[in-house]
Amino acid sequence: MADQGGTGPKRLYIETYGCQMNVYDSERMRDVLAPLGYAPAERPDDADMVVLNTCHIREKATEKVYSEIGRLRVHKERRRGEGRDMKIVIAGCVAQAEGEEIMARAPAVDLVVGPQAYHKLPELIARAARKTGERLAADFAAQEKFDALPARAPDGVTAFLSIQEGCDKFCTFCVVPYTRGAEYSRPMADVLAEARALAEQGVREITLLGQNVNAYHGDDAGFAGLLRALARIGGVERLRYTTSHPLEMTDELIALHGEEPKLMPYLHLPVQSGSDRVLAAMNRRHGAADYRAVIDRLRRARPDIALSGDFIVGFPGESDADFAATIGLVEAIGYAQAYSFKYSVRPGTPAATLPDQVPEPVKAERLERLQSLLRDQQAAFNRATVGRTLPVLFERAGRHDGQLIGRSPYAQPVHAAAPGRLIGKVLPVSIVATRTNSLAGRLVAAVAPPVADLQVPA
Ligand code: SAM
Ligand code: SF4
Repeated sequence: MADQGGTGPKRLYIETYGCQMNVYDSERMRDVLAPLGYAPAERPDDADMVVLNTCHIREKATEKVYSEIGRLRVHKERRRGEGRDMKIVIAGCVAQAEGEEIMARAPAVDLVVGPQAYHKLPELIARAARKTGERLAADFAAQEKFDALPARAPDGVTAFLSIQEGCDKFCTFCVVPYTRGAEYSRPMADVLAEARALAEQGVREITLLGQNVNAYHGDDAGFAGLLRALARIGGVERLRYTTSHPLEMTDELIALHGEEPKLMPYLHLPVQSGSDRVLAAMNRRHGAADYRAVIDRLRRARPDIALSGDFIVGFPGESDADFAATIGLVEAIGYAQAYSFKYSVRPGTPAATLPDQVPEPVKAERLERLQSLLRDQQAAFNRATVGRTLPVLFERAGRHDGQLIGRSPYAQPVHAAAPGRLIGKVLPVSIVATRTNSLAGRLVAAVAPPVADLQVPA
């Protein structure tokens, strides 16, 4: 690279926006850049390289990128005045969708790298430094990326593992099929090898990631087969997956939730709307009753399963009656946690040009009503765990001395007084109180009881 401002390691700062796939991608970018001597920076203004790993899913997320580039440009100029360099790299879905525009609008940006090209970062950085071109790398070769990435260095007892990318479902509101490309599943052997390596490095919980993770077809065994194979890996004690599509909840996968104790009783299953008319206009290819039937079957297989979902309010043409159907669905299901959004027009998607766009104040009012209901449901779900003893995987030190933070099987953060040596252990914790977004607990025993006692909460 050009001058890096004297001796000492080069500093890298990565700002991650959006979904868990971006969190995973940021980790992998860190791995790719470590051999070039990049150590983490605490703050962007301290960094020799700043990567913005961007999200394009809603308009707000995209706008943030341009304002952040503006802020970084000021640091870049200040550092230049001090004889030091700062490379600005834009990665992720905004890079994919608006690469050309970024290059034209933001000359301070040194590199634009799409989600399938970050394994090429070292080479691209070298080229940018030599000013020999290719500042924009945005292709869709997912397999090539996964093959080229170095071994991982997990930094905790939980890890994301990306198994599937892209999407062929083309919901009419969504940019993912355009920014992440066609659906691609990694070969099962590669996924198992990565999971074994993670377990050997102390990872106890793996969350499988994909835009449509349960559509995974990297092997004839399919997604349920992959989960079974992962559950056999020694050291892996917990498995989770996100995000799922209701159409891909096969009988085998639903049954597995009742059979496989390592599969945690928590599922993020977006439905978007409770109105059949809106679901059809969204091209979701299922109705509200189909979704409820999937949930009923899941609850028969695993009665205590905690449910999460995604909702969009104010999709074009959504009437009061359509919105009431969404509220009705949420009341009928009862969520432990959920995400909800105002519909955001994404240029290039079919819904962007639909008539009957819903006015902003109506969207805002509907969102507030829905979120208030979802908040109440989450609080009720959390309150219902008070007095119970849950198996908690301790993940890291808490904010207070002598405190650890872990997660319940239902993905709730749990705080408890416990010594640091228990990080990585699944132990029984008696839940004593709820906080806004977490639970407070008391460690019952510092030695793990038999697995069966831990995995099936009463
Ligand atoms: N593949 C997943 C599925 O189908 O459920 C979701 C992936 S998407 C990255 C995450 C969520 O963002 C979606 O479930 C949807 O609720 C929300 N989303 C996507 N496009 C949106 C838009 N144009 N406006 C508002 N929310 C949107
Ligand atoms: Fe987007 Fe999910 Fe629909 Fe694919 S299935 S288009 S990722 S919302």
